[in-house]
Order: sequence, then C-alpha cells, then structure tokens
Amino acid sequence: MTNDNFNYNDERFADLQMLRYKVHGFEELSLKQKTFIYYLQEAALWGRDILFDQNGVYNLKIRKVLELLYLNYEGDKESEDYKAFEVYLKRVWFSNGIHHHYGCEKFVPGFSKEWLKGVMQNARCKMQNYSESELEEIVDVIFNPDVMQKRVNLAEGEDLVKTSACNYYQGVSQEEAEAFYNKQKEEGGRTTDNGHPVMYGMNSTLVKKDGEIYEEKWTTSEKYGAALTKIVEYLKFARPFAEDEKQQEVIDLLVSYYETGDLKTFDEYSIAWVENTEPLIDFVNGFIECYGDPLGLKCSWESIVNFKDLVATKRTETLSDNAQWFEDNSPVDARFKKDKVKGVSAKVINAAILAGDLYPASAIGINLPNSEWIRAEHGSKSVTIGNLTDAYNKAAKGNGFVDEFAFSADEIEIIKKYGDLTDDLHTDLHECLGHGSGKLLEGVDSDGLKAYGSTIEEARADLFALYYLPDAKLVELGLTPDLEAYKASYYGQMMNGLITQLVRIKPGDNIEESHMRNRALIARWALNKVSDVSSEVSEPAVEMVKKDGKTFVKINDYVRLREIFGELLAEIQRIKSTGDYEAAKNLVENYGVKVDAELHQEVLERYKKLNLAPYKGFINPRYDAIKDAQGNIIDVTISYNEGYAEQMLRYSRDYSF
Ligand code: ZN
Repeated sequence: MTNDNFNYNDERFADLQMLRYKVHGFEELSLKQKTFIYYLQEAALWGRDILFDQNGVYNLKIRKVLELLYLNYEGDKESEDYKAFEVYLKRVWFSNGIHHHYGCEKFVPGFSKEWLKGVMQNARCKMQNYSESELEEIVDVIFNPDVMQKRVNLAEGEDLVKTSACNYYQGVSQEEAEAFYNKQKEEGGRTTDNGHPVMYGMNSTLVKKDGEIYEEKWTTSEKYGAALTKIVEYLKFARPFAEDEKQQEVIDLLVSYYETGDLKTFDEYSIAWVENTEPLIDFVNGFIECYGDPLGLKCSWESIVNFKDLVATKRTETLSDNAQWFEDNSPVDARFKKDKVKGVSAKVINAAILAGDLYPASAIGINLPNSEWIRAEHGSKSVTIGNLTDAYNKAAKGNGFVDEFAFSADEIEIIKKYGDLTDDLHTDLHECLGHGSGKLLEGVDSDGLKAYGSTIEEARADLFALYYLPDAKLVELGLTPDLEAYKASYYGQMMNGLITQLVRIKPGDNIEESHMRNRALIARWALNKVSDVSSEVSEPAVEMVKKDGKTFVKINDYVRLREIFGELLAEIQRIKSTGDYEAAKNLVENYGVKVDAELHQEVLERYKKLNLAPYKGFINPRYDAIKDAQGNIIDVTISYNEGYAEQMLRYSRDYSF
C-alpha cells in the first residue's frame, strides 16, 4: 500500500533485469544479531570463486581477464564492440561463468574476435600474469562454438560427463564416473548411527590422471582450500554471536565438515541444522544443489543468510490465534470440519545476503536438506523468502502488465491500492489456515485422489483464503483496512486464472503444474457457474468481454462471486473429505487443464509487446562494520546504492585469490 522511494528495479541488459531487495527489519536487530549477520555474510561472499570454477574450468580466468580489460579500457566506449563486450561481461558475472544460468548454452559474444585481441594487445602490460598462449586459449573458449557448448548436457545417448562443460569431472567418462560411485556405494561408507547412505561424491571433483581415478575433495586443505579457509575463518568469527548454543553446534559441525570433507559429518550437520528452529537468524552455507552436474551427484556451492520476517509472523499469529473461528464459520459441511484446529505459524524469512548459486538469480523459497533419509526422519525446513517475492512484486509495478490485462482504470486503481496487501494476506490465509483446515472422514485414504490430490489441495487452500478475504472479521482483526480491499485479490485471481497465467505456458501445451491448474480450475468453474444462471434480469457476476479486439475479465458482482467461491470450497472439501476420486478428476480435467488456443495466442502476443525481461536477479545490499579502536564491532550499517558492475568488481577485488 505504501509507496516508498526504494528502487526495486535496477539496470537491464540482454535477457536480464536486475532488481534490488530490501532487508526489512535489519535496523531493528540487536548489535549482537547484526554482528552475527555481518560475519555470516562475509562467510557467504568468500565462496563466490568456488562456483565460478565449478561451472567451468576457464570461468575464473576469463572473468579476471575481462575485468582487467574492462577496468583498463581506453578506447571508444560508444563503439558497438565495446557495448557488446560490457554486456558479455555482465552476463558472465550474472551466470557465474560463460554459460546461460538457466538454459546452460554458451554465450555468443556480440563483439568480434579481432576487436578483443586488439584490446588485449593494448592492455598487455596490465596482464603480465597471463602468457600469450593462455590468452589465445581464452579467446578460443569464448569464440569457438565447438568448445564447451553446454554447461550441463542432458541429451540422451551422449556421454553426459564428457559433453558437459561443468568442472566436476576431469578426464573421466560417464561410464567411469558411474562405476566409481557405484563401487563406493557397494563398499559402504555409511553413517555410523543408523546405516543410512551418505551423499556420495557431493563434495569432490572426480579426476583421472595417469590412468588412475580419484576424488579431489573440497576441503580447507585440498581443492578450494583458500576459499574454504576464509569461509571457516568467518564462521568462527560469527560463532560467539550465534543465537543459541545449538546454533553454535551447527557452526562447529559445518566447520569440521569443511575441514575434513567427511560426509557423515555433513549429515550430522544437516540434522543439527534442521532441528535448530528457534533462532531468528539462520543461514545456509555449503555444497547444496546438484542441478549443475549431469549425473546429479556434485553439489554447487551457495549461501543465504536470513532472519524471520517479524511483520509476517505477527500477521500469521493473529490468524492462528483465531483459527477456530475461521474453521467454525466456513461454508463447509459440519461433518468435514475440525473440532480443534491449530493455525500454522509463518514460514516467511528475509534474505540478508545471497551468494554462490543463489546469486544473482535466486530461488524464492528454501526446502532443505536434500538428503532423503534426513528429511524422512528429522524433517525439513521449508520457507519462502518474503523480501525477494516482495521485490519481484514491487519491481513489476509500472511495467505495463496490469495496465495491459486489467479491464479498466477502476480495476487498475484497486490493484495498485490494495494488491500487495491482499496478496500477502491471501498467502497467509492459504498457508496458515487453508491447508490446515477440514478433516477426512474416517477410513478415507489420504492419497485417494492420486494425481489430482495436489491440485485439489491447493484449490482448497486458495478457496479458503478467497472466501475469507472479504470478511468483516479481517477488518476487526486489523488485517484489512476496509471492506473494499479484497476486490484487488478477487480481480487478480480471476484475471490470472482465466487469462494472464497463460503467458507461462508454451503454445500447444496443457496446464501441468498443480498451482496453475488450481487457479484455472477456480476461475473457470466460477465463470461457468455464473453462465449457468439465466442472466435475463441482470448482468452476470463475472464475464469475459472483448474490447478493441482484446479479451478481458469483467466482474460485475463481487458479493455474488464470494458466494460462488464459498460453494466451490464446500464441494472441494467434500471431495477431499470423502476421497471422491471421480469428482476430483472431473473438476480438474474439465476446468484446470486445457488451454483455449486462440485466447492463448492473443495473450502471448500482448505479453510479448510489453517487452519484459524473462530472467531476473538481485543486487545485494552492502554491509559495513563500524569498529572501535580495539577492533570490536560497534555497529553494522546496510546500504543499497551500490551499482551492479560496482558490486561485481568489489566482490572480485575483495573476495578472490
Ligand atoms: Zn499451498
């Protein structure tokens, strides 16, 4: 609702839009907490070069040479070659290497080979660390389309290890790598306490040299030793400021793992981490995700430091405290209601720093650890990163999207005025109350809806939220300012479910993802329900209309629409509670899956004209520690005015070897 002056959008280049995120509530933290975050974010930033090297063996060298050329360039900065060079370097920074962060294909430079060689020649005296042949090699890697085409190749039938440019295997074939790890698994090397397997191969490079195959471990004394030593140093600085003793144990285990590379220790660390849920501040720092390895074994390095979102937590506590009222007053049949319902507390965090494989392109949620048996026996932490979602939403304002797809100035205004607030509240109602509401009748199999189960479950939670958003109870609880606000959410739901979410679907495809299916199901069911009723006397509550050849949703009667959502909620709860597979199947197949080809094409064309960048990433805030004469930290400041190139160059200068 508020209109702050924070610049969520920063620069745009290639297919990328840079954004900024605000670390809500950092200033209100205690000095001890700020100090803890300060040391943890240093530990995060020190890992940057690890990922560059993991993504490709030439990446670090290329980045360093390009940065030298960038900093020492004395030619014409208006020339097309230079501009293309600048874009190329920005993309290398963004991708932590020379391949696209999402598509994995190697970048095609927009400048010529001759131009680059000329610039290298002119800056030769600044690059004495590099031999002539090294520079030749770099130029070849950048320009030769046959060299390192893809970072991760998953094309069936090829040697995935040999054809992938990632740097997890050296001189090894796929067959050799698979044989190596199969043997490890057979021979054991299991965790001591319960016999569960460790995550074989996750923290090493597999090398073949002189006919011998062995692992180069990623530890403080082996590969990536310099970076990991720095990380450990800062984790140890952070330790005394940890939030509780248990968190100090988490740090100790992580340090021990970085020092030894022992995967059993990593499992112990993961268990301690997942069970350490009390602290406000939390962090991930390690070799975590394995998408960068075609065999899915080797984990890329990443870090995020975060703390609980106190505003969201307060909101969800209010809802949780009143959970029984919501359960009792829902339009659902009394047989399917819970006698005693408990709200779930907020699982929203604020990111304080993003690093490694979470920077600049980041996930908007965390669901860890990845080890299957630890998840099964000790649970997992699943959170959404509220300030990143917030930044996406704020940055999207004024990009023309709502103006293009909303019916008239009235809807645009109401979305601008209330959209953020009702989006947050919708999420809270969905997560804290919706999923937890209702019960199965005795003897009903919880997996009875099979493949339709998750769509039905998401629809149930969404409808619970939609039904309550207009309720006077929310005004009474201070969660909505008035009885108009919900209209932003209603219009958004209908517009998204009927029209705009189609921009995420490729021509010819059906809707597959269960949240998208659920949104289509709700909106189309409601639309269909309205047209069932004879509309001779009045306009339908919702309709699809054409204006200047474009399709729009028009809502004429919001009160009636609420009733319709209530009816569908009751039906969906009945389906869930009784395990009515046929009804679930009919609802999902009839309303949630198919795409109207003509409308789809229209929507894609309208979307394309908006010319929005398909990929986004974040510039980090900058933290500075203020120290007294003895070197003790007396304050930590946060600032948001560092430019993208400036930040990347600072990281390269201050956190590299
Ligand atoms: Zn959900």
